[in-house]
Parts: sequence; C-alpha cells; structure tokens
Amino acid sequence: MRIIFIGPPGAGKGTQCKRLAMHLAIPHISTGEMLRETKRPTADATSGDCVSALGRVVAGYIDGGRLAPDYLVMRLITKRLADPDCQAGCLFDGFPRTVNQAVMLDDFLSNKLWQVDLVLNLVADEEALIGRLLKRAMIEDRVDDSAETIAARLRVFHTQTAPVLDHYADRGIIHSIDAMESPETMFAKILACLPV
Ligand code: AMP
Repeated sequence: MRIIFIGPPGAGKGTQCKRLAMHLAIPHISTGEMLRETKRPTADATSGDCVSALGRVVAGYIDGGRLAPDYLVMRLITKRLADPDCQAGCLFDGFPRTVNQAVMLDDFLSNKLWQVDLVLNLVADEEALIGRLLKRAMIEDRVDDSAETIAARLRVFHTQTAPVLDHYADRGIIHSIDAMESPETMFAKILACLPV
C-alpha cells in the first residue's frame, strides 16, 4: 500500500506518519528528513566536520522556506524506493509537494505496476498552525520554523502543494482529516480511511 500525506507545515504529517508506519509495518519516507540529512555535517578525516556541497545547496532552500528542486527530490525518492523494505509499500510524508513531482511519481510507480492507494489531506486552521510551528522551533531548533520562514512555507503550500490535490481528485482516493483534532482522534480517523 502506498499512501501520501498532504498538509501545510505543522499539520501533524510527521507524527501521524510515524504511527501509521508502525501500524502497517511499512517505511515512513519523509523528503524533508532526507533533505535535512544532506545538510548535516559529516565527520571528515582531514578537515573535521563538514557539510557537503549538496548540503549547502539544500540548506539555501530549506532555511529560506522554499522547495528544493524537483529533480533533486526525485533523485532521493527513486533511490529510496529501490530499497527492499519499500517493495510492499510506504508512506510519503511531505511528498509530492508539486504537481510535477506527482506526475513523476505516477510515471515511476506505473513502471513498477504500483499505484498511489490513498491520499490523506490534513486540513488545518492557519493561525493555530503558526502557533504550533513557533513552539516546535523552540523545542526542535529548526531553522525553518522562524516566523518569516513559516509565512514563506505556508505561501509555498498554497501556491505549489495544494494543487497536488487536484492531480488526484478524479481517482476518488483523497480523504480529508481535520488536523485540529487530537493526534489520537486523527489517527483513529486515518485508520478508518485505509482501503481493505
Ligand atoms: P518538511 O520536514 O516536510 O516540513 O520539509 C522541510 C523543508 O524541506 C520544506 O520546507 C522544503 O524546503 C523541503 N522539502 C521537503 N519535502 C520537499 C519536497 N517534496 N519537494 C521540495 N522540497 C521539499
């Protein structure tokens, strides 16, 4: 089973994906986490800790609240989907984030005779999201959770990611979940959406 989580930053995609991944015993694929991984310093024997050239490029996008380029995200995703643990299915957290990524995902999946089975659309009140994200900034020390970057990320969500829902609209696989409910209630509603 392949499930996509779509929702604005702070809607709880990561939390729900982690839980559902455990429940279904399939991997949780977060492009945000994969991209953040590229910008973490790695120990270098000669020059000490260093961030790769790719990591520095990625940091420019993430820290500015902009989307990383589609080709780069697709490279990470296709590599990950080739891993043995992804053959029975996976959860996509924060991917696809553009219509172009959705089209490229369709191509990739259809070549393997796979498909997207469910799109979970987490719907949230924007004011409440901003409060949640500012709180997360203090707890997790995420550079992209500053007030300015949050505003940029919400704009990007509306202009570039919300249209991804239109891409899947005629397949009858989108289920909307109220992200203002408690994590427990959200999870129960997500379980009720799963195809049998
Ligand atoms: P997330 O952890 O999903 O909130 O993602 C954090 C940041 O990573 C986003 O604000 C983007 O800069 C970048 N990112 C994550 N997923 C994607 C994607 N599918 N396409 C482009 N950029 C992404």
